[in-house]
Amino acid sequence: MITVLSGGVGAARLLRALSGEIDPGEITAVVNVGDDLVLHGLTICPDLDTITYTLAGLNNDQLGWGLAGETWRVMDELAELEGASWFRLGDRDLATHLYRSQRLSEGATKTDVARELCQRWGVRVSLLPVTDDEIATVFDTEIGALSFQEYFVRHRHDVVVRGITVQGVAESSPTIEVLRALEESSRIVIAPSNPLISIDPILQVPGVREILHARRDDVVAVSPLINGAALKGPADRLLVELGHEATCVGVADFYHEVMGTFIIDEVDAHHAAQIESRGVNVRVTTAIMAAPDDARRLARAVLA
Ligand code: GDP
Ligand code: CA
Repeated sequence: MITVLSGGVGAARLLRALSGEIDPGEITAVVNVGDDLVLHGLTICPDLDTITYTLAGLNNDQLGWGLAGETWRVMDELAELEGASWFRLGDRDLATHLYRSQRLSEGATKTDVARELCQRWGVRVSLLPVTDDEIATVFDTEIGALSFQEYFVRHRHDVVVRGITVQGVAESSPTIEVLRALEESSRIVIAPSNPLISIDPILQVPGVREILHARRDDVVAVSPLINGAALKGPADRLLVELGHEATCVGVADFYHEVMGTFIIDEVDAHHAAQIESRGVNVRVTTAIMAAPDDARRLARAVLA
């Protein structure tokens, strides 16, 4: 059994590649819920949904988020009404949020809903929200406090960030299923997700960082930064704005207490000695998953 700390797109790609190498039933993803929001009265869990859609083969590759073959009739009508249409929810995607919101109102947990949605779509990887409690990542920016999606979508992560806090996290607890997965899996993987806004909110849930720290030798992380840049999103920029180095070395410094092995891309091989001086083993391989062969090679390195 392996457990993968997961954000959205970067994690979804790695989980898909891992599913090609081992039985998906042996993979558990512990997923960030700091990006979750309530909009139009609906509870939306972007990272859980991104992973579910990708593993079901239903992801929209053109957009990079949402469902394939999407239509936008509801959003078009909402825009006519001058409603909150800046956060785009496709017609098919809306069914997911309607389903989840109804089940939550009946007393189900996010964990229950994630399991039910995976069953419907035949996804055999076990997707576990890190907590069933409400947590929310907020940004202190040059234009004031912004919620996650205000920062990410409305402002297209193009404002200067001074700090990030995860509201409610100190009072949250990991679910029993999450604790069991982290304690019982033979290996823990940190996906190539955004360290500051996808992985850190998971590590901040009380108890999670402590388990990884204690199991450091069994933890392998994949760098989301290649040649000093994120393949997508603001990871590089945020690292700089919050005082870290925007290279795989900066990511290694951020994770060094909770990982024993770090996988970096071939173009970053010259950083290996510096990372090893932090007491972390380094593996060098192709870390970009765009081509299926490369994704397979990376998955094998993670499992090796
Ligand atoms: P989000 O929640 O959808 O923004 O996604 P994540 O936090 O999971 O992923 C964003 C990160 O994934 C970015 O920092 C990217 O650099 C990284 N990423 C995306 N694709 C790849 C890939 O093929 N290889 C690696 N190493 N990182 C990737
Ligand atoms: Ca996300």
